[in-house]
Amino acid sequence: IRMSRVYNFSAGPAVLPEEVLREAQEEMMDYRGCGMSVMEMSHRSSMFQQIIDEAEADFRSLLGVPDHYKVLFLQGGASQQFAAIPMNLMRHKKAGYIITGQWAKKAAAEARKYGQVVELASSADKTFSYIPDLSRLPITEDMDYVYICQNNTIYGTRYSELPDTKGRDLVSDVSSMFLSEPVDISNYAIMYGGVQKNVGPAGLVIDVIREDLIREDLDEDVPTMLRFATQAAAGSLYNTPNCWAIYICGKVFKWLKNMGGLAVMKQRNEEKAAVLYDFLDRSELFRGTVARRDRSMMNVPFVTGDKDLDAKFVAEAKGAGLENLKGHRTVGGMRASIYNAMPKAGVEKLVDFMEDFEKKNR
Ligand code: PLP
Repeated sequence: IRMSRVYNFSAGPAVLPEEVLREAQEEMMDYRGCGMSVMEMSHRSSMFQQIIDEAEADFRSLLGVPDHYKVLFLQGGASQQFAAIPMNLMRHKKAGYIITGQWAKKAAAEARKYGQVVELASSADKTFSYIPDLSRLPITEDMDYVYICQNNTIYGTRYSELPDTKGRDLVSDVSSMFLSEPVDISNYAIMYGGVQKNVGPAGLVIDVIREDLIREDLDEDVPTMLRFATQAAAGSLYNTPNCWAIYICGKVFKWLKNMGGLAVMKQRNEEKAAVLYDFLDRSELFRGTVARRDRSMMNVPFVTGDKDLDAKFVAEAKGAGLENLKGHRTVGGMRASIYNAMPKAGVEKLVDFMEDFEKKNR
C-alpha cells in the first residue's frame, strides 16, 4: 500500500503517534493470538478486562492520580459531561462558571437547565483572547463548584494558574490539554476531557473524580447512564463502552510513558510552541491573537489581518502537506493545533512555510 502522511494541525480529532497507529494496524486482524480484533471483542471478556485495567493503571501512573479519585471511561464526549456534572454535583443547585470561550459557554448553558449558574468572569468582550482577572471572583459559600475550561481550543488561551475557589470544588475541562504536562490532581474535584485531541479516537471522555462526589442520593430523575455512581460501581462497564477508543488510548498512555512521562512531554510541548510563537512575534505579516501570558501550548491561532491572504495561506499550506490550518469561524485566520503527537519537525516545517509565504506576499 502506498502511504503518505501529512502534518495534521487539526484541533480534533487530531494527530496520533505513528507508533501507535502502526501497532494497532499490526494487531488489527489478530489481537495477541486471540484470532480477532479488539473491535470484535466482548467487553466482558478477560482479554478486554486486561486492556481497560492496564489503560487505567497507566493513566493513573502518568498523572499520579491519588487513590481516592475514580477514573471513568465514558461515552457521550465532553459535551455530555456538561450535563452530567451539574446533575451529579449540584446539591444546592448553584455553581459558578468562568466563561473563557464557546466550550465554557456551552457547559454553563447546560448547567443552567439544572440549577443556577453564576457567571464569575468572562472574556467575551475581546473575543475570548485572554483569561479574565482571577483575583476578584464573586464565589460564594453556597456554590457547589466552580467550573473552568482550562485550555480553550478555539481561542488558544489557557490558565497559567488555577483560580482560588475559596474552598469550593474545582471542575475543569482539560480536553485540549489532556496529558500535555504534569498536573496535581488534588487541586481538582473533577478533571475531565474528551480524548480526541491529545489522546485518542473520538467518542471517549475520561473523568477523574474525587470519590466523595460519586453519590447515590441524586434527584430521582437523573438518568442511570448519567450517574457517576452507575459507572463507578461497574468499573466503566455498566453498558458496552467504546472498547476501541479505550484500547487505543491505552497504547497512547504506554507511548507517553516510553517518551519519559508528562514532565518530558511538557518540555517538548514548550519547545514546539516556542518555535511558532517566536516566529509570530518577529513576523511582519502574521500575528498571534492571544494575550501573551495566556497563550496555549496546544492551540495557536494567528492571522494576517487580510481575509483573502489568510485563505490563500491555508490553501497553499495544504498543498505543501500542512493540513487543517483554517481557524475557527469566530476568530478567522488560522489555527495550528500542536498536540503531544505533533513532532517538532512539523512545527518547524510550518514556520519555514510561513517565512517563505511572508517573503512572497509582502
Ligand atoms: N471541551 C473542549 C475544550 C473542546 O475543545 C471540545 C471539542 O470538541 C469539547 C469540550 C467538546 O467535546 P466533545 O465533542 O467530545 O463533546
